[in-house]
Amino acid sequence: MAPVNIQNIEKRFGQVKVIHDISVDIADGEFVVLVGPSGCGKSTLLRMIAGLEEVSDGEIRIGAREVSNLPARDRDIAMVFQNYALYPHMTVAENLGFALKLKKANPSEISAKVEKAAAILGLETLLDRLPRQLSGGQRQRVAMGRALVRDPQVFLFDEPLSNLDAKLRVQMRAEIKSMHQRVGTTTIYVTHDQVEAMTMADKIVVLHGGLIEQIGAPLDLYDRPANLFVAGFIGSPA
Ligand code: ADP
Ligand code: MG
Repeated sequence: MAPVNIQNIEKRFGQVKVIHDISVDIADGEFVVLVGPSGCGKSTLLRMIAGLEEVSDGEIRIGAREVSNLPARDRDIAMVFQNYALYPHMTVAENLGFALKLKKANPSEISAKVEKAAAILGLETLLDRLPRQLSGGQRQRVAMGRALVRDPQVFLFDEPLSNLDAKLRVQMRAEIKSMHQRVGTTTIYVTHDQVEAMTMADKIVVLHGGLIEQIGAPLDLYDRPANLFVAGFIGSPA
């Protein structure tokens, strides 16, 4: 785990500025949700933290390291996307261990880490199955497990639940929170769903048009919205 410090980050695509001077400090082990309407810059900000997109200006620190110019593989983060794909021809255990195998970890280390992640996510009895033999929720847990086995300093989630039905979405929120409580890894979670933000976050960052409207604990935002945008966005049904 590590704190993440985002300082005066800007992003331009050509002439168009989509992130304007954003600064956020995330404490070690904190679960922070970036929330805002479609197109407000959530994924772009997350992708800059991940190293999948270059920053136009500003600094990103993970722990003591300035990472803005490091390639993604050197940042010690793991990301879970909305459109995660499991390897269809590999078992759950092989899916979980694949990243470690690529890193040439030895087989006993791989199986120890796979077993630990499987225990945290309740996948112990499913390790020999293929992805097509799993339910949607189980597949989602495997996708999370693939991030977990890498034991990163920071987890990044980009709308991981938006392809699931409403009931499963509610269940998976609780499972992601429970995983966070067990491993304590600093987490940055992107969603456009204000209910998801309110129920999952230690701290919420409300984005709108590439700018931060407000940062605060869920109840602070609810009780003391900084402006009409926050009041309307947090108060409206998902
Ligand atoms: P969100 O994830 O909040 O829906 P995004 O970060 O995907 O928003 O997009 C923010 C803005 O940046 C949008 O206006 C989008 O069209 C623009 N954008 C994102 N990626 C690119 C890109 N590669 N080139 C040009 N514009 C982009
Ligand atoms: Mg997005």
